[in-house]
Amino acid sequence: MYVDILIKNGICMTMEGKEIVNWIAIKQDKIVALGKGCSYESLVGKDTTVIDAHGNSVLPGFIDSHFHVVQTALNSISLDLSEAKDHGELGESLKSISNSFSGSYVRGIRISEDQFKEKRFPDRTLLDKHCSDIPVVLNSAEYQVSILNTYAMLYFKIPFTAEGIELDNNQMPTGIFRKQANAILRTNILKNVPDSVRKDAVTGIMGTLLKNGITTVNAMEGGFMYSDKDANFLYEHSKDFPVDLELFYQSMDIEKIKAMGLKRIGGCLYIDGTFGARTAALSFQYADFPGTMGSLLLTQQEINDFVLNCYKNSLQLALYTIGDRAIEMALKAHENAYYQTGIMGLRHRLEHVELANEKQIKRAKDLGILFSMQPTYETYWGGPGKMYEQRLGERYTITNPFRKIVDEGVIICGGTDSDVTEPSPLLGIYSAVNHPVKKHRVDVWEAIKMFTYNGAYGIFEEYKKGSLKEGKLADIVVLDDDILAVSKDQIGNIKVSVTIKSGEILYCNLE
Ligand SMILES: [Zn+2]
Repeated sequence: MYVDILIKNGICMTMEGKEIVNWIAIKQDKIVALGKGCSYESLVGKDTTVIDAHGNSVLPGFIDSHFHVVQTALNSISLDLSEAKDHGELGESLKSISNSFSGSYVRGIRISEDQFKEKRFPDRTLLDKHCSDIPVVLNSAEYQVSILNTYAMLYFKIPFTAEGIELDNNQMPTGIFRKQANAILRTNILKNVPDSVRKDAVTGIMGTLLKNGITTVNAMEGGFMYSDKDANFLYEHSKDFPVDLELFYQSMDIEKIKAMGLKRIGGCLYIDGTFGARTAALSFQYADFPGTMGSLLLTQQEINDFVLNCYKNSLQLALYTIGDRAIEMALKAHENAYYQTGIMGLRHRLEHVELANEKQIKRAKDLGILFSMQPTYETYWGGPGKMYEQRLGERYTITNPFRKIVDEGVIICGGTDSDVTEPSPLLGIYSAVNHPVKKHRVDVWEAIKMFTYNGAYGIFEEYKKGSLKEGKLADIVVLDDDILAVSKDQIGNIKVSVTIKSGEILYCNLE
């Protein structure tokens, strides 16, 4: 038998234990053989594509366990304003894009108060000054704040009675929307996006995913802050794209989810908020805003009822929890549901789970709960002087304790939370290995496992993905270096040179 593709001269980390092989043979969409040395020769025919890995790492295709697909796609066709240094510069960018404008509204993204010389968000009047004849919508980096010009406020339905509308001295909206008002507004705006735009935008980001070695993503779509149209779009079109898109429908409507035939519910199903907006629910006060401990979006009783219902309906559940007080509520609800039903094995997940303490980690282990985490947060926000320290004070040293979680036996599924951070599993792996707090670091194998085998386990697909094994899907990446040999601080510089999805070479940047 001759094979379709042969990868040779590799340090192939199979992720079946720590076994390393040197070559992998692919026929159609599957791995059909693998081994050491040059024992592949009889498999190579004249039609076999041979990829020489030149002694570099070969890994299972990356599984990104937390990814906002439609959001990332729409943002890729939006105006990135993260580099504007003051309100004037922001205005100039808006003006320049509005001159060549063709869509229904201008969407600016990735702004934060801290980036501006003025140290605050621009308001409606400032946006009007530069752009008054088309709707303008700006989103803050973590989507917790939206800012509209006057035209946009008239164009989109504004939830005037909702909480979080900022008013000026004359009781007029400033154009800055937070909390519930922001969420409703975002949903209203996304509802107006036609599916043809979604389709083009999602198609447009596939190249970026493949370039980063991603062959499967967990797509967090729909619900509060987003639109169910995003989720419905992926439900109908997930097979139209080269990368496997596993839908996590962010809804609490169990009947609807069951009627759709989905086996899981949730994703970013918010129990609390973010550190950035000081809305993540803590058991202590924010260091830079004493008296504030974050907020919970549901009562314990509401979470208990919902979680219990998920158990009874055999749905895998993913809940969004960041602060330790939110994690506590989620664990209590799971303990209650387990106590009442005795059901285990649904692989429930907590998303983000940045501030779990030791006792909570142990309880999660006992409940068989997985942690879906984003190591890149530590590179962005961890360590002295960065956002975690500003918000949490000296407690920045207890965020994302990967070492402890792995040692306690809780499975970590790695994600990028794109596009809160860039869609790069390799950056996530670098971040887990180089956690700014040394005692929380994991080794390279453990970090890779988060983005491969554990990702497959997190969606019940470890029987066909997540490791290099005979019979499994040929989802494979070849790197441009040996990740086991480079110094740990250099892992962030490694790039993907080949991505193979189900036996097809979909990205190749070899010399
Ligand atoms: Zn998310």
